[in-house]
Amino acid sequence: MSKRDYYEILGVSKSASADEIKKAYRKLAIKFHPDKNPGDKSAEEKFKEAAEAYEILSDNDKRARYDQFGHAGVGGAASGGGFGGGFGGGMSMEDIFSQFGDIFGGHFGGGFGSFGGGGRQQQIKGSNLRVRIKLNLEEMVNGTTKTIKVKRLKLAPGVTSKTCPTCHGSGAQIKVMNTMFGQMQTQTTCGTCGGLGKVADKIPAGANAEGLVKTDEEVSINIPAGARDGIQLNVRGKGNDAPFGGIPGDLLVVIEEEQDQSIKREGDNLHQELYISFAEAALGTTKEINTVGGKVKIKIDAGTQSGKILRLAGKGLPSIDSYGRGDMFIHVNVWTPQKLTKEQKEFFENAIAKGEMQAEPSGKEKSFFDKVRDMFN
Ligand SMILES: [Zn+2]
Repeated sequence: MSKRDYYEILGVSKSASADEIKKAYRKLAIKFHPDKNPGDKSAEEKFKEAAEAYEILSDNDKRARYDQFGHAGVGGAASGGGFGGGFGGGMSMEDIFSQFGDIFGGHFGGGFGSFGGGGRQQQIKGSNLRVRIKLNLEEMVNGTTKTIKVKRLKLAPGVTSKTCPTCHGSGAQIKVMNTMFGQMQTQTTCGTCGGLGKVADKIPAGANAEGLVKTDEEVSINIPAGARDGIQLNVRGKGNDAPFGGIPGDLLVVIEEEQDQSIKREGDNLHQELYISFAEAALGTTKEINTVGGKVKIKIDAGTQSGKILRLAGKGLPSIDSYGRGDMFIHVNVWTPQKLTKEQKEFFENAIAKGEMQAEPSGKEKSFFDKVRDMFN
């Protein structure tokens, strides 16, 4: 059987550059690779034939001899021997794969199975989305469920993909550099497909280059009890979709504490101002107070002074680092009447005239600083 012309095998002209020869061989090697054509003898023959042609044409000396003397010049023909060190008539599969290092990079050198199986492709994850949610104290303490609208990138219906033409599905690009130590290979993620091994083929109108389209979606977020300002919850799979069926990214929810006008927090303790009338302070009363655990009734003693602080033990926030809870402090403010009726005015004038309703501090009243100190004991 007469040998085919090496240029013809690779499908290049006699004046082809080294780069053109390399590209042509790469194409054929992929097309006729045994992994892609299991059991196909003719494909294997073509694979070997292409490897042999490349072996000769990629070497300047061998190519020159081949150009001058044909197959005989490189030892490929029965005329034998010839120019020493020639090509011994066909390559073993092992030779071919070891040659692949130049063409495709190191990871193809291992022989069968390292090609076409898709094992190199990483699962690509879609990007994460981040939202902020404002919660009031009660929601943070007790937990809640919030439904919010999220703009997600979702895979558009009808998107199809094809094997990446740059990396041929491997997701990786090999760069070969000539250094003083010889050829060095570096492997990087394919710039065309981002390591996915696939690129979009058919993209419906409105979708981006990765086949993704912006979509409003309602996402229900379960906020556990005991959330704190600034914590981040991770809702899996509610970020952006990955192109072509990878893993969707996550939705990162940052909890923000809504400033409550009536309840202020200080660590695990809560503080609340309570305004009572002059008459209520004098006669005593019962008041309903909002706490994070619901409404609570508290008793105001007769003769309560303005500035008194009532402590509701355990009505604060659950402690982060212990099983305890903080307290709620009620700051009592006595509201002095600003408008009086004629009768009321006479009543107070009368009281003053008689020396009644005077301020009579006993000296045992707690100062502002005493009260502050008490709160922390
Ligand atoms: Zn690629």
